[in-house]
Amino acid sequence: MKILIRFAVLFIMVPVFIFAKGNAPEDAVASLKAGNQRYVEGKFKARNYRAERTEQSKGQHPYAIILTCSDSRVAPELLFDESLGRIFIIRVAGNVTDPVVLGSIEYAAEHLHVPLLVVLGHTKCGAVKATVEGGHAPKNIDTLVAKIAPAVKKAREKAENEEDILSKAVEENVYLQVANAAKESAILRELVHENKLKIMGAMYDIDSGKVEFYSGATASH
Ligand SMILES: [Zn+2]
Repeated sequence: MKILIRFAVLFIMVPVFIFAKGNAPEDAVASLKAGNQRYVEGKFKARNYRAERTEQSKGQHPYAIILTCSDSRVAPELLFDESLGRIFIIRVAGNVTDPVVLGSIEYAAEHLHVPLLVVLGHTKCGAVKATVEGGHAPKNIDTLVAKIAPAVKKAREKAENEEDILSKAVEENVYLQVANAAKESAILRELVHENKLKIMGAMYDIDSGKVEFYSGATASH
């Protein structure tokens, strides 16, 4: 009888443990890092998209949300060597937050129970560069520029020379958008507080292909 109870406990606990482990933000970060390493080395996983499409048609279970730039060189599925249904992506020039962007993120975090949000900036970002250069912009682009401007202001204070400003500004913009996601969304704040979501920043290097995760750029309770 005792053995039966032990077996029952084991069979109940093991799946719970596996589910909890599989849903941890640390595991999501580890998967993204491993995928990026394969991308950098050009050792992509072999995939059968046709079979995966059939499997994914039953429902989506992404493990990470990525807010990144629209820049055509920054394609998350490629640079994390990931397939269909695994990463929930929002792309907008300058990887900025606004109510529409946050609505998409909230859907993934709250309804799909995705445990990780990564705000992924990238080197040589045109949107940040345009903000650094300033000048008159048409209305809609000006809205974008206004979202990035506080990061550029901070970068100017920290940069040692003029060439340094753009790289500092893309970095500051990641920190800013991580902070904005938590500040402008009560739902995301609550999920972070309940340890159901981790928000962190990262930077994609256009030249090397490497993604650096910022341990300092995290929103936590
Ligand atoms: Zn960009």
